[in-house]
Amino acid sequence: MTNPAPTLSRDADTLWRQDHDHFLHPWAHFDSFAKDGSPVMNQSEGVYVGDVAGKRYLDGIGGLWCVNIGHGREEMADAIAAQARQLAYYNPFVDTTNVPATELAAKLSELAPGDLNHVFYSTGGSTANETAYRMAQFYWSCRGQPDKRHVIAREGAYHGSTYLTMSLGGRIEDRAPEFGYITDTIHHVSCPDPYRRPQEMDEAAFCDHLIEELEQKIRELGADRLAAFFAEPILGAGGVIVPPKGYHRRSWELCRKYDLLYVSDEVVTAFGRLGHMFASLDAFGVQPDIICSAKGLTSGYQPLGATIYSDAIHETISAPGKNRTFTHGFTYSGHPVACAAGLKNIEIMEREDLCGHVREVGPYFEERLNSLRELPIVGDVRGSHLMMCVESVADKATREPFADSLDIGGRVARHAEARGLIVRPLGALNVMSPPLIITKSQIDDLVAILHAALEAVQDKLVSEGAWHG
Ligand code: PLP
Repeated sequence: MTNPAPTLSRDADTLWRQDHDHFLHPWAHFDSFAKDGSPVMNQSEGVYVGDVAGKRYLDGIGGLWCVNIGHGREEMADAIAAQARQLAYYNPFVDTTNVPATELAAKLSELAPGDLNHVFYSTGGSTANETAYRMAQFYWSCRGQPDKRHVIAREGAYHGSTYLTMSLGGRIEDRAPEFGYITDTIHHVSCPDPYRRPQEMDEAAFCDHLIEELEQKIRELGADRLAAFFAEPILGAGGVIVPPKGYHRRSWELCRKYDLLYVSDEVVTAFGRLGHMFASLDAFGVQPDIICSAKGLTSGYQPLGATIYSDAIHETISAPGKNRTFTHGFTYSGHPVACAAGLKNIEIMEREDLCGHVREVGPYFEERLNSLRELPIVGDVRGSHLMMCVESVADKATREPFADSLDIGGRVARHAEARGLIVRPLGALNVMSPPLIITKSQIDDLVAILHAALEAVQDKLVSEGAWHG
């Protein structure tokens, strides 16, 4: 990294200790955190990040599925600083606004598919989805159908970690028994995971099965009580699951047939990760009523969420003469500095044709990662473009999973980290979502390190007697 390391006010050990003693991290696992703490990151450039101890890593996860334009962009820092000087904050409530928020709303309306011409801002992906949920209820009430307030989501989905969005999610790993969840209005159908489909079904039969299940669920709950269906185009935290061909289009058609809003959670897939600004229509042929976005919207340089919704919804909720108030919003909705970052991010993406770049390097990334299938431990390599994962299994032929206690993904991640690569562990998976600017030679580096890490884990498991190989 050529960026100079900022001078630290404390030495690396003191920082590690302060973090360990005072910062409760998202998804903290208390026992391991108490023992190991965290590396403290402090530098970044392009596809690389560095910690306070001076170690450099290839950032295989783009921060957390979000640093799309890459780290350390000077012009982004300048745009943020300029907006902070010009107008750092003014409230957006009721009838005041600011320049970047209005310009970004117009730009997002131009980029989003079809008649998605209206934007509600929040502070991230959870609040973007929470907004979509509230908007769906508000919309149906305005249409004279206040009972339409139930929603359907999928097992394995991740939509955020507010009370509501965590209830919407369907990852069993996230359902800590110490927390409570909303169960009366939120319902789930099966995860569309082709790798873990029933053995007797091919992919087409599996797709039919999923669609039949969804239709049955709609009938069972009653279309007159259902407000919306929530779906990520590719399930991210659920294990980079690409549903079977035709699944999205057919579930969207069911939503049309039974009058449910289709909410596409594009918090990860939007802004280039799959080679398009938005994936719903361009990659999957679906025109949602609402798209939720965050992460790549600012490439993680500022916290921002955007719930982008249709003319039809807007005309209904804002119908004149009804004396209605949309009592929803946040102090930081349309934050000028965050919106300035969003505008600059899109400007960079368009100028450098990052979607075109992803369409070029994405298939190369898929192909190179697929070469890892030669390793006995690798059961599946899946995903699309720059959203990929490798699943380790105890038995390739039967797809038998490893016991959770072996922490396979964590082991692979630690071996990769020691060799200078960050890949995210999720059970026995390791997920990857590198910055979109990654080059083919950096992809080669990433795959070579991951190969070595997987081999090291294989050897260790065999030597421990925990695996036959
Ligand atoms: N939706 C999806 C698909 C996500 O992957 C995430 C976060 O990873 C969220 C929503 C929640 O976003 P945030 O953490 O910004 O609230």
